[in-house]
Amino acid sequence: MRLFNKHPKLPLLALRDLVVFPRATVRIDVGRPASLAAVEAALARDGRLFLATQRTPEVEAPGPEDLYPHGVVAEIRRSTRMADGTVQLIVEAIERGRLLGLGGKDPVWASYEPLPEGAASAELAPLVAEVKKAFERYLMAHKALRLDRHRVDAILGEADPAALADAIAQEADWQTEEKAALLGEPEPGRRLERVLALLLRDLERLDLDRKIAARVKQQMDQNQREYYLREQMRAIQAELGGGQDLASEVEELRERIEKKGFPEEVKEKALKELARYERLQPGSPEAGVVRTYLDWLLDLPWSEASEEVLDLGRTRAILDRDHHGLEDVKDRILEFLAVQKLAGEDGAKGPILLLVGPPGVGKTSLGRSVAESMNRNFVRVSLGGVRDEAEIRGHRRTYVGALPGKIIQSMKKAGTINPVFLLDEVDKLGADWRGDPASALLEVLDPEQNKAFQDHYLEVPYDLSRVFFIATANTTSSIPRPLLDRMEVIEIPGYTPLEKRAIAIKHLWPKVAKRAGVADKVEIAPEAVDRIIAEYTDEAGVRNLERTLAKVARRLARAYLENPWTGPRSVEPGDLPELLGPPLHRPDRREKAPMLGAATGLAWTETGGRLLVVEALAVPGKGRIRLTGNLGEVMKESAEAAVSYLRAHAGEWGLDPDFFEKFDLHVHVPEGAVPKDGPSAGITVATAVASALSGRPVRPDLAMTGEITLRGRVLPIGGLKEKLLAAYNAGIKEVLIPRENEPQLEEVPEEVRKGLVIRPVASMDEVFQAALLPPAEEPGTARPRPRA
Ligand code: ADP
Repeated sequence: MRLFNKHPKLPLLALRDLVVFPRATVRIDVGRPASLAAVEAALARDGRLFLATQRTPEVEAPGPEDLYPHGVVAEIRRSTRMADGTVQLIVEAIERGRLLGLGGKDPVWASYEPLPEGAASAELAPLVAEVKKAFERYLMAHKALRLDRHRVDAILGEADPAALADAIAQEADWQTEEKAALLGEPEPGRRLERVLALLLRDLERLDLDRKIAARVKQQMDQNQREYYLREQMRAIQAELGGGQDLASEVEELRERIEKKGFPEEVKEKALKELARYERLQPGSPEAGVVRTYLDWLLDLPWSEASEEVLDLGRTRAILDRDHHGLEDVKDRILEFLAVQKLAGEDGAKGPILLLVGPPGVGKTSLGRSVAESMNRNFVRVSLGGVRDEAEIRGHRRTYVGALPGKIIQSMKKAGTINPVFLLDEVDKLGADWRGDPASALLEVLDPEQNKAFQDHYLEVPYDLSRVFFIATANTTSSIPRPLLDRMEVIEIPGYTPLEKRAIAIKHLWPKVAKRAGVADKVEIAPEAVDRIIAEYTDEAGVRNLERTLAKVARRLARAYLENPWTGPRSVEPGDLPELLGPPLHRPDRREKAPMLGAATGLAWTETGGRLLVVEALAVPGKGRIRLTGNLGEVMKESAEAAVSYLRAHAGEWGLDPDFFEKFDLHVHVPEGAVPKDGPSAGITVATAVASALSGRPVRPDLAMTGEITLRGRVLPIGGLKEKLLAAYNAGIKEVLIPRENEPQLEEVPEEVRKGLVIRPVASMDEVFQAALLPPAEEPGTARPRPRA
């Protein structure tokens, strides 16, 4: 009692599950009679209470031993009496106090010893920082603890170690016991250390919790989600009455997957997708996507193969059966196959066959024959205009309407894993196709990589190693180097009229007549074929010839039905205008008279060789050169070179040396076809200009090709075979070719070589001598003259 009297006393408010720290403002709901009496007593005096926390919350009337020994002195800031008789208090804690004893009843009085804050030392600064950091992490990790932002800012801004420790202790999610111990620690440094220790302990725990939770959640997610989805699906199916259908569909798919002969990896993928399919809502877009994908896997050949044969005799026989002529080409193909066979036995895989030539020369049909002779299926894919890698490799399934690329699509068509696969128009891959589409195609062709070809849609690797690839192109010039390096090039230059006639009679006509159902009703006279070749087609190959013959056959089929006849009837040249309309080309209308200011050149184009007439005209002016007719840059340069040469040699050709200052030259190439090898028109331009200026006409039955230098030398050109073929087909008698091209004459068909006078030339002198005739009767009429 002595002690009791010596020390300050305040009404006691015993707290359950709550520890209040100095400086904190807290809300307390008061309901017990002793507590209500304490509040009343406090309000009757100075509004102060002593707050102490119960060790055991359940005790109704705690004695000293039921309370933690430390508490706080608090002031009531607000008290609100509630309807149920309880009071809601807002109190602010002022300072620590050690409980010394209790006395009285309703209210109970607490005697206590105030514990003023010890002075904080500056040494605690690093600890303060550490604690703040830990508290921040603690707030982030502890998802359940939500503090008001202002409160957090206030705590993190607290510089006083004692206040910081108390503030954190007030807010943290700790046991009452732990908090009470902190309240009982009067020394700020030690209190702060304990706070830090508790924070770090919790951080570790929270981290561990998080990891465990994540793991548990993942498992739960999977099991539960699956369960949940299946239930949902069942419910939906029950609603739709389609459950049975889906179940049997899935069963059927499963069976097909089991029997398909997939590689293991693909089978796994298929089963996985099937499981997904089963879970998806039938008829939903997602289900459609998965089903389409499964169909692709199931429709593609994975193990189906035809039994290959490699019998050169058999191949030769089939090539001969289907193709007239082409002896060199057939020999090269057989050699290629022989090498493939022998190299293949060594495990090596050779290059890819590339057939190069104008349209309609039989590249595709050769591929088809090779396939048949090797007992392989045949597929063809056109690469013309492909710019995007995705066209070759497909689009990822995440794209709406995604499909596999052309390679995989074609494999589906092929139906076996070992077809002959014709890559058509490899020279026509988009103009800007470098990089990825190229590398995709390289991968397709590379025996090292095509065992596991990657299509974006398919997602699983596809084995292309047993495919026999053949490529075709109109020209090698636009094929990217790395691709070309992998290829064995075989050129097919085009056909002569005699060859075309033979092809038409032996192959094309029987084919189209049979298709039109008139094989036994109509024959075609060779003269009619010749006329079709000359007047209704203008091509290096026989594609239009075949089309035109097909038209003839169809017209006759109709005529027969309208007006049947007995016995075979023969199509004669005279029938053609009626069947086909007026001729499209009139070779006989070609210039027969000597030409003034014009010369016939020979150009190489992707569709074969062509005649190219160059016209020149001099008009009064200031020495300018105008070039028209859609000429390429190279063509212009060669025209300029030709003019420069003539200017330098004006005297030798009887031309007025000032001529070039007084007149403009106009060089024109009608027909617009821009030949790829521009420079080869050089000597033709020079001849046309020389003719225009000298008044000497040019021989109409002569054509020429050659590049010109400023000093009048004739340089070699490309596409000799095609050019000579075009000259021959057009009825030209004599052709001037660069001397350096002479060795290549060997490759020119004999019929063409025999049908033409081929004169190799090395200089412009020789060209002019051969091409220019003596001056016309009245040179003045053609020769531009100064007007003054
Ligand atoms: P490409 O692929 O070179 O454009 P195609 O193979 O499509 O040409 O040939 C066009 C048509 O001409 C086909 O019907 C083909 O069978 C036929 N053909 C081409 N060359 C010959 C030939 N030498 N003998 C028989 N038919 C031929």
